[in-house]
Amino acid sequence: MSRQDMLKRMKDEDVEYLDIRFTDPRGTLQHVTVCADQVDEDFLEDGFMFDGSSIAGWKSIEQSDMKLMPDPGSAYIDPFYAERTMAVHCTVLEPDTNERYGRDPRGTARNAEDYLRSTGIGDTAYFGPEAEFFLFDDVRFSVSMNKVSYHVDAQDGAWNSDTSFEMGNMGHRPGIKGGYFPVNPIDDAQDLRAEMLTTMKRMGMKVDKHHHEVGSCQHELGMIFGTLCHQADEMQKHKYVIQNVAHAYGKSATFMPKPISGDNGSGMHVNMSIWKDGKPLFAGDRYADLSDEALWYIGGILRHAKALNAFTNPTTNSYKRLIPGFEAPVLRAYSARNRSGCIRIPWAESPKAKRVEARFPDPAANPYLAFSALLMAGLDGIRNKINPGEAMDKDLYDLPPEELADIPTVCHSLREALGELEADMDFLTAGDVFSKDQIEGYMDLKWKEIYAYEHTPHPVEFKMYYSC
Ligand code: GLU
Ligand code: MG
Ligand code: MG
Repeated sequence: MSRQDMLKRMKDEDVEYLDIRFTDPRGTLQHVTVCADQVDEDFLEDGFMFDGSSIAGWKSIEQSDMKLMPDPGSAYIDPFYAERTMAVHCTVLEPDTNERYGRDPRGTARNAEDYLRSTGIGDTAYFGPEAEFFLFDDVRFSVSMNKVSYHVDAQDGAWNSDTSFEMGNMGHRPGIKGGYFPVNPIDDAQDLRAEMLTTMKRMGMKVDKHHHEVGSCQHELGMIFGTLCHQADEMQKHKYVIQNVAHAYGKSATFMPKPISGDNGSGMHVNMSIWKDGKPLFAGDRYADLSDEALWYIGGILRHAKALNAFTNPTTNSYKRLIPGFEAPVLRAYSARNRSGCIRIPWAESPKAKRVEARFPDPAANPYLAFSALLMAGLDGIRNKINPGEAMDKDLYDLPPEELADIPTVCHSLREALGELEADMDFLTAGDVFSKDQIEGYMDLKWKEIYAYEHTPHPVEFKMYYSC
């Protein structure tokens, strides 16, 4: 959609406000609203100035001016506002040069797409993310979130036997790992999920299914894949719709990776393929009908997985998900069959559908940064012909300790991931896709989270140590 098309649509649809949106380094969608009568061709060409120093991890106070440049192709009518409002995603520019601001995640996604073309390896990277989430009663109205975790504690905890008050008649509640996927009333969110999906369809998003996930009160809605930056925009909208429909019903949806101890966590598997001149590059006659390029792409992701964790698993909570036994990966291995490794090659009905699924990312990730980083690791694999080794078709959770010892793992903490990123960032800064300054700024933000977490007494410490 061109600028003129966008202005015409605003007029045709009686739009009163334009909501200008961008994403901060942590992945939070931000917005500012402008009266529609202020929006003309000049506005869309010049962009909108704002104070970048108030966004965590961006500019300092003395050089705070930044420019938001709307991308007309990303515009959509927002269904959650009472007044007719069009929303549009923006890239952040330096006001004096009009260059992409180096710490803007959406700019990084555009850089990554440009870089792919510049390598000559391919012209298009497709991304198909699958973000899982939990639905809880809104904590303002109920304490059921705590009750759920007490119930879970009671099942697995030597320290928790005093919290078993929910162990009696649970009615139709699915219980731990019981959600996949009996019909209602065990699944009590059918209508809510359907409304989320319908809302997305009305916003022009491409979606295909919804279902209860394995965890108790855990869910997943299916999106159709798209190009890197576009699909990161779609993921931001996906989360926005899920959280706002839930909110309208007095529920709260969370993409926190591991909200309940002892039950499955929420992943954001990322399916990827690269195309060149309208042809899929990942289909071939090697393992699982992959091409050499696909195997090298996997090699790159497995080699850089620990540095990638800083972007794909960006919270202290992320590492509580990456443990054995909950369908989340721990080992840096790939396979066509099992779901316990970092990379799975899903069965594909045609060469066009051939893709590689990274299973370690989680939905707390900033999608622009996570997708860009994954692409850069994969491209590094192709450029350097990184051999991914043999596929591991056994259930990796059940391997004997002597075999397990030889297989490298993902990171076990955000602290470890930042150390790995510090030591392995050249694959990200290739072609100036990520800048060193951006990575440093991102790490500063993440260190603050680590300190907040590590310096705060944890509820389970009171259980374990209070009476010691
Ligand atoms: N919830 C699992 C995870 O943490 C994934 C389940 C699935 O395969 O969909 O990654
Ligand atoms: Mg799933
Ligand atoms: Mg999957």
